[in-house]
Amino acid sequence: MAAAVTAAVSFPSSKSSSLPSRTSIISPDRITLKKVPLYYRDASASGRVVSIRAQVTTTEAAPPAKVVKESKKQDEGVVVNKYKPKNPYTARVLLNTKITGDDAPGETWHMVFSTEGEIPYREGQSIGVIPDGIDKNGKPHKLRLYSIASSALGDFGDSKTVSLCVKRLVYTNDQGEIVKGVCSNFLCDLKPGSEVTVTGPVGKEMLMPKDPNATIVMLATGTGIAPFRSFLWKMFFEKHEDYKVNISTSWFFLRTLL
Ligand SMILES: Cc1cc2nc3c(=O)[nH]c(=O)nc-3n(C[C@H](O)[C@H](O)[C@H](O)COP(=O)(O)OP(=O)(O)OC[C@H]3O[C@@H](n4cnc5c(N)ncnc54)[C@H](O)[C@@H]3O)c2cc1C
Repeated sequence: MAAAVTAAVSFPSSKSSSLPSRTSIISPDRITLKKVPLYYRDASASGRVVSIRAQVTTTEAAPPAKVVKESKKQDEGVVVNKYKPKNPYTARVLLNTKITGDDAPGETWHMVFSTEGEIPYREGQSIGVIPDGIDKNGKPHKLRLYSIASSALGDFGDSKTVSLCVKRLVYTNDQGEIVKGVCSNFLCDLKPGSEVTVTGPVGKEMLMPKDPNATIVMLATGTGIAPFRSFLWKMFFEKHEDYKVNISTSWFFLRTLL
């Protein structure tokens, strides 16, 4: 006895063997290949008449495997919300410099704030900034979040600074007026020596994996380069006994703004 291979394909919304009018994407794990017997008999001395039994069956799709999310709440030593809007920290600007060329379509500034080590953060965390002044309702401005762009050691390597990369927001509204974003313009215009009100550190979702062999995929679209500057700084500019980057498992995708 010979054997033939038939494909049993399941479609999510149809029990009939005809194809549904709507095209659906079938994931490979829902296509099963099944061996069924092939019956044949000799009809003459010269050849064979072959009878093929075609079989189309429908099966319910197996529910997708549940992804177990690893909680980072118990990560040791990761500080969050040490400073909150009601008890913020006053940092001092050490440096603020434009890092985009004059012919670039927008402006991005790199700034370093002195924290005296009072904001212990990890690569991948953010800080909040409360810009000076009041909003149109006469209330203090609300804080805006900014990804930390320096490694945990800071740009000066003494764990006493935090750096940001900030894009100056300027756009034209529907009435044709030029509008400047409150906090980004406040930050980009800060002069060395001035004070800035900050909160945080914030977030545990984007911390670097402890395993140096873990695959790291960094997608920097538009202005989202700041957190990856902190990753790359730690990976390539610093030496850590407990962390040596495996470059073959790290991927960095950067969208240019040309
Ligand atoms: C976790 C996190 C990390 C971040 N990290 C960074 C960072 O590293 N660097 C950085 O530069 N930013 C970062 N941001 C964005 C940042 O928090 C602010 O949103 C940004 O700087 C704009 O704030 P602003 O006060 O200047 O603008 P606002 O005065 O708050 O104005 C923003 C508002 O203007 C309006 N607007 C903006 N563009 C247009 C437009 N083209 N047309 C019409 N209306 C428009 C929208 O209503 C928008 O909500 C981050 C945000 C988050 C949540």
